Amino acid sequence: MKSPGSQLSPGRYAQELNLLEQVHVALGTASKLEDFYLIATSILVDPNAFGYSRALVLRSEERPRSFTGRVALGTQSLEDHLRFREDILEETRRLQELIEAIQRENPEPRAIQPLYDLRFHSLWIHLLQGNDAGGDGLNSGFRELNIGREGLPENHLLERAAAATRATIFTAEDVDATGLEDYVRFPCVAGRLVTRRGMHGLLIADRQYEDTPIDGESLYHFQWLVNHASVSLENVELVEELTATTQRLQEVDRLKSNFLSIVSHELRTPLTSIMGFAQLLAAEKVGTLQPSQRDLMRRIEQHSTHLHNMVNDILEIAEVEGGGMVNVQVQPVDPLSCFISVLPKIEARRGNKQVTIEPLIHDSVPLVWADDAALERVLFHLLDNAVKFSPGEGRVTVEYEAREAVLDISVQDSGIGIPQDNLKKIFDHFYQVDFRLERSFGGMGIGLTVVKLLLDAMNGRIRVESTPGVGSRFTLTFPIAPGRSGAPAE
Ligand code: ADP
Repeated sequence: MKSPGSQLSPGRYAQELNLLEQVHVALGTASKLEDFYLIATSILVDPNAFGYSRALVLRSEERPRSFTGRVALGTQSLEDHLRFREDILEETRRLQELIEAIQRENPEPRAIQPLYDLRFHSLWIHLLQGNDAGGDGLNSGFRELNIGREGLPENHLLERAAAATRATIFTAEDVDATGLEDYVRFPCVAGRLVTRRGMHGLLIADRQYEDTPIDGESLYHFQWLVNHASVSLENVELVEELTATTQRLQEVDRLKSNFLSIVSHELRTPLTSIMGFAQLLAAEKVGTLQPSQRDLMRRIEQHSTHLHNMVNDILEIAEVEGGGMVNVQVQPVDPLSCFISVLPKIEARRGNKQVTIEPLIHDSVPLVWADDAALERVLFHLLDNAVKFSPGEGRVTVEYEAREAVLDISVQDSGIGIPQDNLKKIFDHFYQVDFRLERSFGGMGIGLTVVKLLLDAMNGRIRVESTPGVGSRFTLTFPIAPGRSGAPAE
């Protein structure tokens, strides 16, 4: 592409197409602005590609109206330029030989493409290394530039390039380049990098040390590069935006967890006192109660227990998110005894519901690799939901089934079920299928989040099958450990 001719021979045409494709691929690999600037300027100064003497990317800053130079690749003297040009060509020859040798072994074109990309990348690394080694590289001209646009004369190179919709060749007669003497010489070519957000900046290159003039064909190629670079830049901007948004969201999420943790701690202390005093009163330790007073005390106890459970749930999720609880200790655990320990807690939550909970055991139950406290909490949340979403007289079964090296523990209910579309989302924080405030089931949408976090920490798995109006089945899977339920571990 560096030596324009009036006619392209088929061989050169193919070569050019190949180069354009590589440039396209290379620009597409950037995911950060700094990488993008480096790749775009490297393509411009690479004698195998555009062969300019120097290249400059200037970012246009809106506030204050100015240009900031991010990457300026170029050599400061003809001698440097020729030396580095030779280095790069030598490096290219070496890599080309390597590619050809590999190609002889493996003519599959797909295997070769990464090598071409590698050729480009290694050249750029070469350029950069020069910079790292004390300004000796092709980008020894790299400097941070800050040019205020306010003070620039009207026919300044930057103002004129920013105003032109197409890439343009500028000469010393055309424009004034005061302030840019160290970075660009005339004639030079400049074009705008434009994305959906507006003008991002300018790409400028000169051929100070090259015999090849900047002519119409160079301008055509430069415009091609500017167009492709603008498309890639748009992607880079989007990726950067997404990364920044994700970081902000993670920060907000962390603040929310901290807040939840503090609030629930603060609520738990007075609530524990209220419950303690209510129990004292209900047990008539401080005086005999009338039947109506006893009934009211029972309701106070019921409601404060409910509140206490809710506060514990919030605290649980804040702890799990903060990494506090994820320190589970995986060891052989008896899943049946975990189930038995959970039953009284479910009894305390079920209120007036007559739902029965039945274990279904086909064979002796093996121990599993888990953490008993964590498994109890998982079973608690699954059973709590199963009871909550079942009709008043429903039936919940807990089935244990060993399959080769794993044990499945399924909690099945005959409740309202979950629509297919919602199945994936129910494990998200605060997600509830029914979001309405007037919904008939209580809860805060965190039980299953806790289940998922605890299972991840224990290397357990969960899957859910459900049919609206028929019921749901949540199946936990754990690796089997040595030993059987009720028998000491082997
Ligand atoms: P909560 O039960 O406190 O709302 P969870 O995280 O435990 O929160 O569950 C999230 C949502 O998943 C519930 O609000 C409900 O819509 C749905 N869900 C969970 N388990 C069941 C179940 N056994 N039957 C029907 N829906 C369920």
